[in-house]
Amino acid sequence: MKSDIRVCSAWRDAHERPVYTLSDTCPDCGADAVNSAPAPFNPEDPYGEYRRALKRRVRE
Ligand SMILES: [Zn+2]
Repeated sequence: MKSDIRVCSAWRDAHERPVYTLSDTCPDCGADAVNSAPAPFNPEDPYGEYRRALKRRVRE
């Protein structure tokens, strides 16, 4: 069964945590919202620290 809940496709870059929505676009940043299943958020994501480091480098 398909879920209607979508998640911001750019939340890792634009937000501190997944942004869920029922619309086609993120209400916060306007990025495409994608189907949330399977759950995209894994607190033990081995690449999370790498992405955060990359994000810091871009901002500095
Ligand atoms: Zn967003």
